Amino acid sequence: MKNLWDRASNTLRDRVGSNNHTAWIAPLDLTGIDSGEAQIVTPTRFISDWVQRHYADAIRDALIEVGAPIARLNFRVAAPRRAAAPRKQADAASATPLIRAAEPEMSAPLDARFTFDNFVVGKPNELAHAAARRVAEGGPVTFNPLFLYGGVGLGKTHLMHAIAADIRARRPEARVLYLSAEQFMYRFVQALRERTVMDFKEMFRTVEVLMVDDVQFIAGKESTQEEFFHTFNALVDQGKQIVISADRAPGEIKDLEDRIKSRLQCGLVVDLHPTDYELRLGILQSKTDAFRAQYAGLCIEPGVLEFLAHRITSNVRVLEGALQRLFAFASLVGRKIDMDLTQDCLADILRSSDRKLSIEDIQRKVAEHYNIKLADLVGQKRVRTIARPRQVAMYLAKQMTTRSLPEIGRRFGGRDHTTIMHGVRKIEELCAEDYGMAEDVQLLRRALEA
Ligand code: ADP
Ligand code: MG
Repeated sequence: MKNLWDRASNTLRDRVGSNNHTAWIAPLDLTGIDSGEAQIVTPTRFISDWVQRHYADAIRDALIEVGAPIARLNFRVAAPRRAAAPRKQADAASATPLIRAAEPEMSAPLDARFTFDNFVVGKPNELAHAAARRVAEGGPVTFNPLFLYGGVGLGKTHLMHAIAADIRARRPEARVLYLSAEQFMYRFVQALRERTVMDFKEMFRTVEVLMVDDVQFIAGKESTQEEFFHTFNALVDQGKQIVISADRAPGEIKDLEDRIKSRLQCGLVVDLHPTDYELRLGILQSKTDAFRAQYAGLCIEPGVLEFLAHRITSNVRVLEGALQRLFAFASLVGRKIDMDLTQDCLADILRSSDRKLSIEDIQRKVAEHYNIKLADLVGQKRVRTIARPRQVAMYLAKQMTTRSLPEIGRRFGGRDHTTIMHGVRKIEELCAEDYGMAEDVQLLRRALEA
């Protein structure tokens, strides 16, 4: 059975990518086959649900491929392992009042609008939302930390506040601490100055859920990283839940110590993807309902929301701002919200999201990313460390602009269109087989879309 599953699992790695494999396939086990039904055990209900929804077919196919006589899958959740019991602290009783008193100013205030109810779920944020819900439900810690990452305005802070609000509503006595990385840093420095570092440490180490937002900001700050690392480890050891957000994946944060990177990667790393049309429309509809209550009597013509969802693709914050302005403006001038009013009122936003990405933008970004000179990127050198980034830039130019191959060739130092085509193909191949390359390309693409 073990052998069969190992082989199926290997096949699946190629199919789903190594990141997904680590997160979803590796935790599974095949325990037996009963009259054509593969018995699969999962460690948690969350993993079970997710795997059934997203990987059931792939798993079945892989098992059949390696010769397992099965037709169906049956998933079972393993008996729960208890989370590590909190370490008994002799001075817990005396520490408590101090923490209680200090708590209100420790946690940053929550935005009351950032709740799960107000969060619109779509394909790009489905997993992040499900994981956040799971954390808010409490119970044994299933992944630690939960690491949420993605570009600006895609809902990271919203989800973290929603977790905090949800936990506080369910269990008002639970200690939930939400801080930006900057606040964490500030308080640490303050504690150093006021010689209250012990209190500072105790404060963190007695929370149940710690959330640190925008953790990329502690990169390069050595003593803060050190303290963060210790706090982090102490909480994980006690089975406390940690939620972290950043604007990029742990491995991509420059000047972050390797041991911290690898600790951050130990849990569930979830990526909030750029919004798609459906999600943007969903968000616009939900915000419109909210605005309607506020601006009673305003009507919005059909087609306006669809138009905005098509045209404003940068991020949710801009989308929200546009809608807010539209309502405010319409109520001020006493007009209905139609296409004319929209064009007038949002001319600047529409124009800036119209801005075309140039090949030059792409080349600059790629050169910067790989830390090579722009002149080399478009020049004639053939060493791999330059030739590969050059092909990445060619690939992105083909994918992200409407330029033809000969045009792209001209901007890459007068190269032939077949050279460009070769470069594009090469990167396509590499993306399919090399996870690192696929990540690089995705990261660059996201940076260019921002
Ligand atoms: P980030 O922290 O990722 O930069 P935020 O959480 O601050 O982004 O989100 C920016 C704005 O967009 C907030 O007002 C938030 O409520 C809104 N927003 C983002 N994603 C969604 C969503 N899926 N549904 C509803 N509102 C969203
Ligand atoms: Mg944020």
